[in-house]
Amino acid sequence: MIKKLELNQTKIIIGERSINEIDKEIKKINYSKIFILVDENTHQYCLPKLIINSELLKEADIIEIESGESQKTLDTSFQLWEVLAEYKADRNILIINLGGGVISDMGGFIASIYKRGVKFINIPTTLLSQIDASIGGKTGIDLGSLKNMLGTFTNPELIIIDPDFLDTLDKRNIYSGFGEIIKHALIYDKKYWNKIKLIDLNNISEIKATILNSVNIKVEIVQKDPKEEGLRKILNFGHTIGHSLESIFLNSSKDFLYHGEAIVAGIICELYLSMIKLNFKEEEASDIIKFIKPNFKLNKIKKSNYDLLIDFMQNDKKNTNDNIAFSLLNDIGNCSFNIFCSQDEIIQSFDYYNKIIK
Ligand code: NAD
Repeated sequence: MIKKLELNQTKIIIGERSINEIDKEIKKINYSKIFILVDENTHQYCLPKLIINSELLKEADIIEIESGESQKTLDTSFQLWEVLAEYKADRNILIINLGGGVISDMGGFIASIYKRGVKFINIPTTLLSQIDASIGGKTGIDLGSLKNMLGTFTNPELIIIDPDFLDTLDKRNIYSGFGEIIKHALIYDKKYWNKIKLIDLNNISEIKATILNSVNIKVEIVQKDPKEEGLRKILNFGHTIGHSLESIFLNSSKDFLYHGEAIVAGIICELYLSMIKLNFKEEEASDIIKFIKPNFKLNKIKKSNYDLLIDFMQNDKKNTNDNIAFSLLNDIGNCSFNIFCSQDEIIQSFDYYNKIIK
């Protein structure tokens, strides 16, 4: 069944075969020319599924970038702007971001800057981008190892979330996306957590069945606080430490962490901080870890990296002065934001994590 939602003037269409709606929706938009941004994988696996459902997109120009977080840079953005200029793309073009969070973050970013902003549509093709990255208007790129340092709040015209795209996604990326689903449940909905902790992560139909619920959570939070001035910060649970872990391994082919994997590791550390700062119950933390541990590959955090991790956190845009702000759990389904933790407490959370994953 197809569901339609509205978020800050963006229409969101969700459901199997929702991609069939593409032409009907594009016809409502006034545009001069369409560009489709893909990486080599979404070019191979997703573009044919999109084009077969659309007469209008058969004429579109395809722009391909290399896949991966290492491409979410100013260099690649610059090249994309140059390509658009070479095509003599005017202010009225429409960009379709067909891919995971890297494509929607960077495609949204370049669209929001080119000629002071052109229209774009997100068609997310990974679990992580379907339930999180494509929704909420945050666009951005990394600055060196620092995650999402440059960016804008710009809403797409339309988001189409078709779970059928996930059929070609590899298992590691499905698990990575599930990391954000775990976060949604933990910060917002205890009943949802009790449901998802029973899911078999090898069963893609069970995972697809969670998409709508997670999208609803993200939409509800962003609707209440579009610019992350308050409540939206709870979506950062697991991310303060998760982003710094992601940064550390950004350029390592051996230890490279997918976004959701870093977030799951961050969640374990931040469960510890939730216990010491907000009296989050130890039994609840054990229940969460019992689900996470067998399902995710968790690497030790080397002591030699502790200082660097703190350094990355101090650069995180969520901080004021030298304090490190966290979003932490009071209870499952209830999260507080702007809880400031000391470096000692953060280091204790790394030690806790290392003990837990043994
Ligand atoms: P990704 O975009 O790198 O995609 C992961 C891999 O899957 C890539 O190799 C891609 O080519 C491939 N792929 C995509 N769709 C496929 C398909 N259907 N079949 C086969 N292969 C496919 O990674 P991601 O996990 O989707 O996104 C991570 C990014 O999202 C990070 O940069 C993170 O910071 C960002 N993010 C943004 C927000 C936000 O609110 N803007 C929220 C969460 C995460």
